[in-house]
Amino acid sequence: MYKQIIALFFLFTSVLAVAQDIPFQLEELTAPEFIQAVEKSSKTCIIPIGVMEKHGAHLPLGTDVYLAREYALRAANEEYVVVFPSYYFSQINEARHQPGTISYSPELIWKVLQETLDELNRNGFDKIILVNGHGGNNAFLTFFGMAQLSEPREYSLYWFRPQDNEDIEKKAVELTQTDKYDSHAGNSESSMMAAAQPSVIHLDRAGEQSGKDQGRMKHLNYIYSGIWWYASYPNHYGGDASKSNAEAGELLINETVKQLVEMIKTVKTDTVVPELQKQFFEESQNPLKTKQ
Ligand SMILES: [Zn+2]
Repeated sequence: MYKQIIALFFLFTSVLAVAQDIPFQLEELTAPEFIQAVEKSSKTCIIPIGVMEKHGAHLPLGTDVYLAREYALRAANEEYVVVFPSYYFSQINEARHQPGTISYSPELIWKVLQETLDELNRNGFDKIILVNGHGGNNAFLTFFGMAQLSEPREYSLYWFRPQDNEDIEKKAVELTQTDKYDSHAGNSESSMMAAAQPSVIHLDRAGEQSGKDQGRMKHLNYIYSGIWWYASYPNHYGGDASKSNAEAGELLINETVKQLVEMIKTVKTDTVVPELQKQFFEESQNPLKTKQ
């Protein structure tokens, strides 16, 4: 009996060890491990979304892919969740005039994202989190999120929307001695890349091109036009990144990761979104029967 208890104990701890040791990156999981990963993650998967786009003369084209993945991988290390491989099929029409932009058609980016969600769901995930590293995706993802209601879905989609933390931003500005036009490839983004991927950045080239807002639509009041970004930042550089540094970047990344970890925990235990969706889709089948 004693021996059986010892054997059971070792069996239990080895099963636990296997479960604890499985990777969280989808591409690193074996098929049998994948089954465990779906359960271990509470059926939750993150898709970090970036794009291939110019980031001034000093940051690599894949900056948004690197940063979205950095947030997701650091968060998954703290709170287990499966992380989807590098994803760069997103909205970047506004940089088509710049070298190295990989701009898929609007129809294709929609289809790839939808089919990715469907495939994740077919493989057992019923909660999917989008972590977006590219500002040019904001309108796309908002519309895509609303369009999820167009037909019944068996998963829930959650988009991570981090909040600005003024204290952290103030500290980052102090460390980098500038808050000038801190936009695309500017102070914050370059500092985060200095922390996350120092070997692929070139801060010494940050002054080679202008990061000034050219404001060429400023006189056009009450108007939206898709050319607005080109009107302001044709170089795909907004600000001054010359004093960016890893210390400031580490602060900014950690704040985002802290919020993401909290969000993942919330999503894993959330029952409200799935229940409301279920009710909504049932009522949508027969709106005349919806209680008035
Ligand atoms: Zn970027």
